[in-house]
Amino acid sequence: MKQYYVVLRSVLRSRPDLRRCLRRCRHCRIFFLTHPRNAGRRDLRCPFGCRQAHRKRRSTERSVAYYATAEGKAKKKMQNGKRAQAGVHAEANPPAPAALEFPTGIVGYAAMVASLIEGRRVSEAEILQVLLRAMRQHSMARRRRMDYLVAQLQQHGP
Ligand SMILES: [Zn+2]
Repeated sequence: MKQYYVVLRSVLRSRPDLRRCLRRCRHCRIFFLTHPRNAGRRDLRCPFGCRQAHRKRRSTERSVAYYATAEGKAKKKMQNGKRAQAGVHAEANPPAPAALEFPTGIVGYAAMVASLIEGRRVSEAEILQVLLRAMRQHSMARRRRMDYLVAQLQQHGP
């Protein structure tokens, strides 16, 4: 968290024009940069979970409200009937392969901030590549450290 604010401060120092994009999450109060088109808004949520959580809550509310209507109730009855006939349960759906996942929204946020800083369009794919490379380097460095420790232990023994 401290590191995050160090980076944010240094970005704003080098790009004072982005100060107007600095916003505070209305939910968790963290500071983050928003796209200039939203710079005037005060009701924003951060891309570190609050925005997604809010969106999910809203969509649940919408579907609860829908299934409370007559049309929704009829549809649900039909769906349940179909499911019982086919013997298909929601649990039967295998979870999506969790190959490598960054929290939703983070990559998009990083791409947006990078675009603002660099003054060009930085795609999410580009950000993902950078993140993957950084993670690989990180784990390589860790492995080298471990190898070194193991070698030291073998040499000097316990
Ligand atoms: Zn937040």
